[in-house]
Amino acid sequence: MRTPTRTPVLAPTLIVHGGAWAIPAEMADDHQRGVSRALETGYAVLTKGGTATDAVEAAVTILEDDPTFDAGLGSFLTSSGRVQLDALLMDGATLRAGGVACVERLRNPIQAARLVLDKSPHVYFVGSGAEAFAANHGMSLIDNSALVLERERLRLHEFQERLAQGLADTTFSGDDKDPETAASHLSSHDTVGAVALDQHGNLAAGTSTGGTLNKTPGRVGDSSLIGCGCYADNHSAAVSLTGWGEPIMKLVLGKWATDRVASGVTPELAAQQAISYLFARLGGHGGIILLGPDGQFGLAHNTPCMAWGIADKDGPRTGLSI
Ligand code: ASP
Repeated sequence: MRTPTRTPVLAPTLIVHGGAWAIPAEMADDHQRGVSRALETGYAVLTKGGTATDAVEAAVTILEDDPTFDAGLGSFLTSSGRVQLDALLMDGATLRAGGVACVERLRNPIQAARLVLDKSPHVYFVGSGAEAFAANHGMSLIDNSALVLERERLRLHEFQERLAQGLADTTFSGDDKDPETAASHLSSHDTVGAVALDQHGNLAAGTSTGGTLNKTPGRVGDSSLIGCGCYADNHSAAVSLTGWGEPIMKLVLGKWATDRVASGVTPELAAQQAISYLFARLGGHGGIILLGPDGQFGLAHNTPCMAWGIADKDGPRTGLSI
């Protein structure tokens, strides 16, 4: 049953992120430009009266096409040198959701997630089944090599060399509170996401990722799992997370944060509390964007940087830390 829409709000809101980690100075401009473009495209959808779900899909598509980020083109590679992508899109008015994971032949997994949301009685498809579903609904299947950049081949090669020399760790196990192990996960979190509130008072959220560098093929992170790296419900909030996926999954952190908003905590405080809880409970690192149905929002991260952008009644702005 569809949740009744709310009284129209004066101005819609769109928030995007492009990962939370120690973004180096020489990559700062690319990150700012990328989130800015996504913001502009997604916000134009909202100001023309489009839905929050349309705006999130449009913004995340721009970020997937931008090789700066770990989503779509230019994603981190698995240990066998391929790109494997995960994405989720969720509509807060209906709680309809679409997820895909471990897809290798789709340029824009968020668009496949949209097809699942719109056209399937199911919620989640993986691997070749997800690709077949997308192809049956008109998406082109591409060769995996079209998503692989030479930059990423080199990054993987260097990482695997360091691993062989015992200079890097590959566990991504998530329970480790040891600061050195945790710090090694700070270097690679460029997942993208967006949350939106439209003129009709409806929320949506989307998250898309290439996952973690050197992940074992078949590994799925938090980003595309409902309530972990992404969630939206008009009765609570819309959320997208980035960071070390395993701890975020174990805490079902997206739903944890939106539940707090439902219980009366402001999104600003709930975002901070979620990131504090992530670290206190499992030593996790990451960032969060959280948007309530009244347009109040919160952003937080415990990494040195998080690429973010907001557009609302006060205009567009972007930044690299909160
Ligand atoms: N959360 C993502 C994952 O673990 C990685 C990221 O945010 O960059 O797959």
